[in-house]
Amino acid sequence: MLRKKTNGVARRPQRTSVLSRVGESTVDRRAFLRGSGLAIGGLAAVGATGGTVTRATAQSAAQTAVETIKSVCTHCSVGCTVIAEVENGVWTGQEPGWDSPFNLGAHCAKGASVREHAHGERRLKYPMKKVGGEWTRISWEDAINEIGDQMNVIREESGPDSVYWLGSAKHSNEQAYLFRKFAAYWGTNNVDHQARICHSTTVAGVANTWGYGAMTNSYNDIHNSKAIFIIGGNPAEAHPVSLQHLLKAKEQNNAPLIVCDPRFTRTAAHADEFVRLRPGSDVALVWGILWHLFENGWEDKEFIRTRVWGMDQIRDEVKKWTPEETERVTGVPGSQLKRVARTLANNRPGTVIWCMGGTQHTTGNNNTRAYCILQLALGNMGTAGGGTNIFRGHDNVQGATDLGVLSHTLPGYYGLSDGAWAHWARVWGEDLDWLKGQFATVKGEGGEDQNLCTLTGIPVSRWIDGVLEDPANTDQPNPVRAMVLWGHAPNSQTRMKEMKTAMEKLDMLVVIDPYPTVSAVMNDRTDGVYLLPAATQFETRGSVTASNRSLQWREQVVQPLFESKPDHEIIGLFANKFGFADRLFRNIEMDDANTPNVESTLREINKGMWTIGYTGQTPERLKMHMENQQTFDRTTLQAVGGPADGDYYGLPWPCWGTAEINHPGTPNLYDMSKPVAEGGLTFRARFGVERDGENLLAEGVYSVGSEIQDGYPEFTYQMLMDLGWDGDLTREEKIVMGGIVGFEGLDATVGESDDGDDGTTSPSGDQASNEEVGEQSMSPFPSDYDEKVAAINWKTDLSGGIQRVAIAHGCAPFGNAKARAVVWTFPDPVPVHREPLYSNRRDLVADYPTYEDRKFYRLPTMYESIQKNDFSEEYPIILTSGRLVEYEGGGDETRSNPWLAELQQDMFVEINTRDANNLGVRDGTQVWVEGPEGGKVKVMAMVTNRVGAGVAFMPFHFGGHFEGVDLRDKYPDGADPYVLGESTNVAQTYGYDSVTQMQETKATLCKIWAA
Ligand code: SF4
Repeated sequence: MLRKKTNGVARRPQRTSVLSRVGESTVDRRAFLRGSGLAIGGLAAVGATGGTVTRATAQSAAQTAVETIKSVCTHCSVGCTVIAEVENGVWTGQEPGWDSPFNLGAHCAKGASVREHAHGERRLKYPMKKVGGEWTRISWEDAINEIGDQMNVIREESGPDSVYWLGSAKHSNEQAYLFRKFAAYWGTNNVDHQARICHSTTVAGVANTWGYGAMTNSYNDIHNSKAIFIIGGNPAEAHPVSLQHLLKAKEQNNAPLIVCDPRFTRTAAHADEFVRLRPGSDVALVWGILWHLFENGWEDKEFIRTRVWGMDQIRDEVKKWTPEETERVTGVPGSQLKRVARTLANNRPGTVIWCMGGTQHTTGNNNTRAYCILQLALGNMGTAGGGTNIFRGHDNVQGATDLGVLSHTLPGYYGLSDGAWAHWARVWGEDLDWLKGQFATVKGEGGEDQNLCTLTGIPVSRWIDGVLEDPANTDQPNPVRAMVLWGHAPNSQTRMKEMKTAMEKLDMLVVIDPYPTVSAVMNDRTDGVYLLPAATQFETRGSVTASNRSLQWREQVVQPLFESKPDHEIIGLFANKFGFADRLFRNIEMDDANTPNVESTLREINKGMWTIGYTGQTPERLKMHMENQQTFDRTTLQAVGGPADGDYYGLPWPCWGTAEINHPGTPNLYDMSKPVAEGGLTFRARFGVERDGENLLAEGVYSVGSEIQDGYPEFTYQMLMDLGWDGDLTREEKIVMGGIVGFEGLDATVGESDDGDDGTTSPSGDQASNEEVGEQSMSPFPSDYDEKVAAINWKTDLSGGIQRVAIAHGCAPFGNAKARAVVWTFPDPVPVHREPLYSNRRDLVADYPTYEDRKFYRLPTMYESIQKNDFSEEYPIILTSGRLVEYEGGGDETRSNPWLAELQQDMFVEINTRDANNLGVRDGTQVWVEGPEGGKVKVMAMVTNRVGAGVAFMPFHFGGHFEGVDLRDKYPDGADPYVLGESTNVAQTYGYDSVTQMQETKATLCKIWAA
């Protein structure tokens, strides 16, 4: 049977026939797993590419027309294309996208089974609330009214900050943007999402080193790497399809793969060099490698001279990290690190990859900066094959971060300053005073009024303390009284026993998710809990940003299941309830009274996101890229011919200027070998031009084609005037800029007629009357125009003119500076090693203590007051955590998927053989694992040498058991995941990064005993 392909995708691959039969319920799960190759639980389709291909059988062929619809896997940030086959509105089959340069026809087990979303066997099917301990069905209308009424009461009594809006890395970009905007209109910065607890330390550390806090290159660019250094990452399980790109470099370039991890992971199994470091000793390890680089003169001296500031201070710190000291702290022999250093020096450019093993520490920002400094020392930045390839977690955690679902910034990393609010109010067409009036005002230390719109909100990692902490100790007037967990798994967060207490103390708990999540069952509330069914991304459309900064467009595969609604419609329902929908959506087209149009929302994003270049990715361009995936090169990501000729796939940000200038996107950040107009860049001039009398701008190096052949600061209108380039701005651009500083009614047509007889010669209204006699001219711009717009810069110019002109002259709008190895604004300007709060190395605590306690992000935060207590005798084993290939995040979706659930049915703890024998624990038996704050979990022991002696590992995807109690009965009927288990985060402890409040999940302590 021939199947009509509407988008030119390749013929159905071998396992589809199995899948289609699954749809007919004629194949049991075991048969499916065997047929699909998923039984290995890993790289299903990598294996598939070498397998046999069978056509769909006559039995599997549908009698009706099959529509193929392109979407993107909703699990991890690799961004694999899913080709959905839909018959009469029913999703009947799926294939991996063979044309996608990201996945090349591969899917992992999770991607290969996303169709289960559309079966929805275990989905939350309609709104529910708990009444007297029983789940009760209610209508959407009643749910929104009841929740909204209670929120309004809380707002009246305690202020808008007493409602916490916790968003999601599962939102599309448009939904993420609307969510952040919605929180602003509600009047709070108590808004955040998973990025806080996965890569916030990356974003802060990396952005403060060279400008942007994102993956610099791409999965595909790893094909060019001559060496691969992975630390704290396990892509074979967490980003399975990415491994095909790594293995290509390994095979094609003979690139050595170095894996640094406390645990011998599935990724380590591919390594040429496995470096087993003690959990929490990353900075010491990197400095130990740098010690050899500096000692032998292997660093890239010219790169450092021209493009790095502060490396001398790093050298001073690194001198302390002799091979002996490094081994004492990390456990890694000096000889091995010398070999690693030599390998990296001899195989340039190499890439550095990290994930949550590096980020989730009290010193996470130190770790991420140390990794960057290693690349700077090697001269591996700004080049194909080099870079810091930071693998993000959830499918749209990059986009949700970019769109500002965070408590410390508005969309686009603009921050929360008055200028940032003014910028977004302009984009939104909103009255700034009205917007600020939505927020609470408190008295500052000097008795002055302080509007909380500029105060960083409580991060998701600490929402528990927002509920439980005495308000007298916090920087907000009242505690959090209502929590909205929207697409967020609570079991991905530490201190779950305290979280249970916090949930029970709330006035109201609202869960918005396709699944009930662990939030529905981990507390003992009998009332005041609402579950609202959200649609998955397969039930709507919109853009999603992969880890490499490329945007992809998802088409809608099926209508929302049951009574679920897409997130942007739910936002619309609440906005209408609160009475600000007309304002929130004033410049956005509406599909109906509650539903903002997705394309129109992206266009509003395009209008405001100048900082990171989300301005050129229009819906039309993104859709065109998806339709023409086959035209993009699989290594460079650049289209070769076709309608997107010259573009990079998904227009990886920054895609500068307006869409009209047709910027192709930036495949590798800070690569000066290309003109900026063609995707090249310099390091960003973000930290001023001088420090301690030293130049912070680049020394004599610049992008190809730059007319400024040296370092330069970020562009402003004033700078254009100084360079004599302001004349390149169009009249329309200047009129828009004039509007920013308050020149109303500048007329674009003035001065354009040939005879000049065009009536008024100046702006209408007061501006005109201010002009001096004799200055009547053909210019529509008043005499003080230049003076007033001088300070407008490349980030606040809504016309895009400054960016366009800078790029036309070969320059980067954000300047050309050195990266900084020393971040003088951070608690540790030079990254240093500090022991985890719960350390069993008391000798090292004395030498490398943690920070003093302090207050930030509105909350008191403990460091030394915890570390000073010695827990090591009672809790002698280091506890770390991580991922499994079968599951994603808190695991509610994936544990509700029968195919995945079959693969991994038991929560477990990995215990080293020596420890197990000493504890009298046998493989496969039940044990208790208890953390030093008293939380304990009952799990199956896996006795293995994957972990070293003295270290235990637990995956973090499980939930539904709590300290030995099975909570299955507490789920709404039919919505309990197939697999339940204990959450490692019940035993995980306090500990937060000193800059971002990232939670520490990779280096606490525990004790283990047979259950
Ligand atoms: S989970 Fe990640 S690697 Fe697996 S199919 Fe989905 S996007 Fe691809």
